[in-house]
Amino acid sequence: MDKTRINWGEFAKKTPKERLHFLENLNLSEDSLTTLKLQKMLSLDIANQMVENVIARQALPFSVVPDVLVDGTVYRVPFVTEEPSVVAAASFANKIIKRSGGFKTYQEKRQMIGQVALYEVGDKEQATRAILDKKKKILDLANSAYPSIVKRGGGACDLTVEEKGDFLIVYLFIDTKEAMGANMVNTMMEALVPTLKELSNGKALMAILSNYATHSLVTSTCQIPLRCLSRHPEEALVFAQKITLASQLAQVDPYRASTHNKGIFNGIDAVVLATGNDWRAIEAAGHTYASHKGNYQGLSSWRYNSSTKTIDGTITLPMPIATKGGSIGLNPSTRLAHDLLGNPQAKILAAITTSIGLAQNFAALKALTGTGIQAGHMKLQAKSLALLAGAKESQVTSLVKELLKQPTMNLSLAKQLLKDKH
Ligand code: NDP
Repeated sequence: MDKTRINWGEFAKKTPKERLHFLENLNLSEDSLTTLKLQKMLSLDIANQMVENVIARQALPFSVVPDVLVDGTVYRVPFVTEEPSVVAAASFANKIIKRSGGFKTYQEKRQMIGQVALYEVGDKEQATRAILDKKKKILDLANSAYPSIVKRGGGACDLTVEEKGDFLIVYLFIDTKEAMGANMVNTMMEALVPTLKELSNGKALMAILSNYATHSLVTSTCQIPLRCLSRHPEEALVFAQKITLASQLAQVDPYRASTHNKGIFNGIDAVVLATGNDWRAIEAAGHTYASHKGNYQGLSSWRYNSSTKTIDGTITLPMPIATKGGSIGLNPSTRLAHDLLGNPQAKILAAITTSIGLAQNFAALKALTGTGIQAGHMKLQAKSLALLAGAKESQVTSLVKELLKQPTMNLSLAKQLLKDKH
């Protein structure tokens, strides 16, 4: 089926039941359809196999953001998030960006990095030479510790040695194919310890994966014509100039950069969670990369381009996201997430996820430099309060309206209004 022709226009207005019916008409697997129909998510038995001391399962909303155009293909992207307005903002931004030609992405390579930290090395220069002289032998040794990844076409491909403080650190670069590779990297690094100790005449402090995945950088860009920012050309220009300024602010002020990047991760984390990936790993990599120039900065930048009359966005960050390994195949909802995406390979999933980060950032900056972020947020806050106050489905809309008329809102006020007026 040509996914670009599917009309998602009314999806947001449908009830969850109607949305399920809509999804039944897509080319999803039987497994996904059963998961959806029976709402058959993670079982207690499987949860108990995943981690320790399990007593229950935590559920979060699972949504879909349609119309995500990346490198010429339209994706429907699964989002798992508890934060109101994130899905709406992503849908809004992706619709505009799709109309503007979508995202174009670039990845030079996809490798993970492991490190062995050596200490009490007498002559670091000599140790470095000794290790580099045996590079081929060390790479072979690493690969023999995890032969299945070599069979899959991956494995250790390079190593470097660096002196940092009291340490001599050996970095190994590994193509982990479809996996994030934490366990395979750790296995390889541990296997290298005796040889590296011998070659360096030193001791090994630790042998472990680095989450700073600088060899898995992904860049996503988009170009949004001014006319997509507002129907009024003057207002559109002001938007473009303010979004440019907001992007500059995140480069010079870490207080702003932190919030700027949090907004980016609103989208990225939602996809990472939905697809069963390790969000701590992706967060650690992204936030470390945000400091790669020496101080913490915004991960994205936007620039008004006066010659093309567009606002041009770009984002670069490490995206070691996986389609295999960890708990990805175990949880039915993560299988559904990959199926909704069309089961892309890890490189494509990385391109989509990075693009989602840029879209989420665009939506946040557009709201911030326009009506302000609170206008949209207050509606959703009122809805949360109405639900928390115990409003039934039929009472929510009118209670939200009442709450929005009040100068301030809180839970006791919501309860009072529900009691008085419903
Ligand atoms: P796994 O240990 O699950 O290894 C990947 C698995 O996927 C292997 O069993 C591999 O099979 C299988 N596989 C199937 N097809 C492919 C393919 N095409 N390419 C690659 N592998 C394939 O996961 P990872 O090593 O990726 O580790 C990720 C897990 O480690 C996550 O759960 C993470 O939370 C956790 N973790 C993270 C750490 C960190 O970030 N610092 C530290 C420690 C753990 P085969 O073996 O046959 O090749």
